[in-house]
Amino acid sequence: MTQVLVLIDPGTSTVTTADLASPQLPVTDLAAHRGDGIFETVLVRVNPDTREATVVSRERHFARFHSSASALDLPEPDRKLWRQAVDRLIAEAIAANPGTTEFAVRYTLSRGGDAPRGWAFTVPIEDAIVTARAEGVSAVSVDRGYDAYVGRRAPWLLLGAKTLSYAVNQAALRYAKAQGADEALFISRDGVVLEGPTANIVIRRGDHLLTPDPAAGLLAGTTQRLLFDHAGRLELKADYADLSVDDVLSADGAWFVSSVRTAVTLRALDGKSLSRDEALTREFQRIIAAG
Ligand code: PLP
Repeated sequence: MTQVLVLIDPGTSTVTTADLASPQLPVTDLAAHRGDGIFETVLVRVNPDTREATVVSRERHFARFHSSASALDLPEPDRKLWRQAVDRLIAEAIAANPGTTEFAVRYTLSRGGDAPRGWAFTVPIEDAIVTARAEGVSAVSVDRGYDAYVGRRAPWLLLGAKTLSYAVNQAALRYAKAQGADEALFISRDGVVLEGPTANIVIRRGDHLLTPDPAAGLLAGTTQRLLFDHAGRLELKADYADLSVDDVLSADGAWFVSSVRTAVTLRALDGKSLSRDEALTREFQRIIAAG
């Protein structure tokens, strides 16, 4: 895929196309050495006949971007400016990649140097994601190192914000891979299931979909929200719950869900096989594809 980049200047409300292969960021940008900024990654689906693009959960993403900015005391992002930037990027990506039917867009607001700075670029869907959608993933549980709901007394941990500080998440993923698993599943110090490094977990128990409460110390996922909003149509109820590893192991189905991976079956946790509900996996993927 030919990738495309736009630079967004929140100060002047301008969007300019730039070369993704050329350096764009001064080393003094606080995103670069403090991870001090926020981002969103959205899935874009392109209709092969009309070439029209759908940004999945567009408003859910922007609402979270807005609340992440507020959590970090960044200036409120201007909806019109960011929408214009994403639309322009998508139009350029479709023009540059005539056969494409799916890609992701990552948009970022950094605290910058002298002033905040934004950018957005396209990201191709990796083969590993396509395989995970079809075959599911394995995971190992890993200690998150803090108790559930710690954010209530330590809001500066920014647990509900989608910040650029992902080094811990990346380290957990490397640890999981070194154990021979595809994914990590964070567990709080006091035994509550939280999330994966880049995904929420959803389980089915009977006619209930359950997922950890974002207030427990995890990101409120747009994909989880989209699926829960459709639960009624699948004749399922949907709730937040404090789940243990045993709850996941004994579930009637479990999924890692996020914007780009969509919904992937959790096949095994800590080397133990889980029940699979592939019919529901397909329903979830269909709901997400429809945006
Ligand atoms: N949790 C974390 C830590 C994530 O990074 C992500 C997505 O990137 C998610 C959950 C899932 O969020 P969404 O469904 O909005 O992609």
